[in-house]
Amino acid sequence: MSQSTDLFDPAARWAAPDPEPIVGDDLRLLLRQAFAIEEDGAGASPAAVVLEVAPSRVTPAIAEALQAVVGTDHVLFDDAARAAHANGMSYLDLVRRSAAPPAAPDAIVLPADHDEVGAILRTCTKHRVAVVPFGGGTSVVGGVTPTRGSLDAVIALDLRRLDALLEVDEISQTATLQAGVTGPRAEELLAEHGFTLGHVPQSFERATIGGYAATRSSGQLSTGWGRFDALVERVRAATPAGDLDLGRAPGTAAGPDLRQLVLGSEGAFGVITSVTVRVRPIPEVRRHEGWRVADLATGVGVLRTLAQRGPKPDLARLSDETETAMGVATGGGGTDEAGGCLLLVGWEGATADVAYRAEAATAILHAAGATPLGEQAAESWRHGRFRAPRLRDELLGAGMLIETLETATTWRDLEALHARVGETLRTALDGASPIVACHVSHLYAAGASLYFTVLARRDGDDPVGQWSVAKTAVMEALTSTSRPPATLTHHHAVGVDHAPWLAAEIGELGVDVLRAVKARLDPAGVLNPGKLLPAD
Ligand SMILES: Cc1cc2nc3c(=O)[nH]c(=O)nc-3n(C[C@H](O)[C@H](O)[C@H](O)COP(=O)(O)OP(=O)(O)OC[C@H]3O[C@@H](n4cnc5c(N)ncnc54)[C@H](O)[C@@H]3O)c2cc1C
Repeated sequence: MSQSTDLFDPAARWAAPDPEPIVGDDLRLLLRQAFAIEEDGAGASPAAVVLEVAPSRVTPAIAEALQAVVGTDHVLFDDAARAAHANGMSYLDLVRRSAAPPAAPDAIVLPADHDEVGAILRTCTKHRVAVVPFGGGTSVVGGVTPTRGSLDAVIALDLRRLDALLEVDEISQTATLQAGVTGPRAEELLAEHGFTLGHVPQSFERATIGGYAATRSSGQLSTGWGRFDALVERVRAATPAGDLDLGRAPGTAAGPDLRQLVLGSEGAFGVITSVTVRVRPIPEVRRHEGWRVADLATGVGVLRTLAQRGPKPDLARLSDETETAMGVATGGGGTDEAGGCLLLVGWEGATADVAYRAEAATAILHAAGATPLGEQAAESWRHGRFRAPRLRDELLGAGMLIETLETATTWRDLEALHARVGETLRTALDGASPIVACHVSHLYAAGASLYFTVLARRDGDDPVGQWSVAKTAVMEALTSTSRPPATLTHHHAVGVDHAPWLAAEIGELGVDVLRAVKARLDPAGVLNPGKLLPAD
């Protein structure tokens, strides 16, 4: 049994630490006053807690069978490796692991390629071992929680060794990447060929190609470049029942598109081992700008015009009044002028195309009475956009509740949904000085996504119960049959946390169809028990 390396140090989960704290002493004091936090929790950030884990349930016979597939060095049993795979990155993940030793996976298995993944799935089926596919571990819905259902043990199948660019087709502008390639590594590998993937979720530094595909991720340029599932030409997955290799041509009428059964399947149907995606030449120019609009309704009107009449920007992000004010307070980008809403728009690509699209958008923005804030406002956001996880850790350390949630709806219902979710959260967290901020992003012709950030005073006695009440209230609102209609998730996926509401979104029959697919591909139910599909 081998030892893990510092690659698994939970403190090193975000790649580029800031040399200075983001929340300085002044802001910390301000926050404590604003949220009436009596005791400063300095040094007690749940994110920083060192972990212990229970003894592994893997028997010597199982260990030997796993090692026979991937080699002795690639099955890890040490506490650090197991603790680092014990949870994802939601607020509740961080809070729970500070309260008690987490239920860690019994071993970490690191396969080298597609065939080893298939062999591990067959081994685990034979030995009644649950398998949790693990990419970057950035799930915020319990997707990597080591659940084992009624099985005897659970492993995390860490895909980091599947880290190659397998093929670039420069003529068709596609690239085939293995599942464990992270966002930055994908860009490095593609840049050698003059291409970019341009998929930039906020978890970019750690999330992987397989994770993007398994959760149908959306990036900051998804308005123009498309969400990740829209970029996929071909996907290869290993399942306990055999291999799936889907996507032979850019268009087909050969029945339903089975790629869509793999995309968004969250490791419950199979393990994605490689994905062929559309790529683009590295942009000649990038132009990102900030604008100030009078209010949310004005900004929504501008975004709708851009989405429906075009030409579409690649980046579009409209902060509501609260998020705009918070951005100013924390230096998180935006405008020095109080009031109104910050609207960021951006274009990337060939010089002439960017100039044409930016000019068209400028005319629409001026017509709506928007004030230009220049490129600096957008650059300031761009500069700080990957600091959110660090900021969250610091706010947790200051005794706060901080979490995000997201949804999407039609243009007709966007503002009503914004109001309803905000009101639901403020009511559920009443007494804890809640602040609910939101931005509109990921534009479609018919609607857009809403992304909420919630801040409140953390209930020190029952932080899990406090957030669970609020989250449940929001999920009930999102899945309610009355207007405004909404989805339970636009890009965070289902995992464990959203599974109880899946039937409300796709119907009992829809859930049965997914169960039938799982029964065919994973008859022993070893893949990610309790994820995606609600418990029977
Ligand atoms: C700070 C922060 C910011 C975020 N911002 C965004 C954002 O902007 N946009 C967005 O879409 N999401 C965002 N997320 C959510 C998360 O990063 C995405 O869901 C991401 O796609 C997950 O990728 P991952 O490699 O980390 O997957 P993991 O977290 O490792 O896994 C996610 C799920 O997919 C399964 N899985 C992983 N790899 C595979 C595979 N190869 N085959 C089959 N199943 C697999 C896992 O079992 C799990 O159920 C954010 C999360 C955090 C913590």
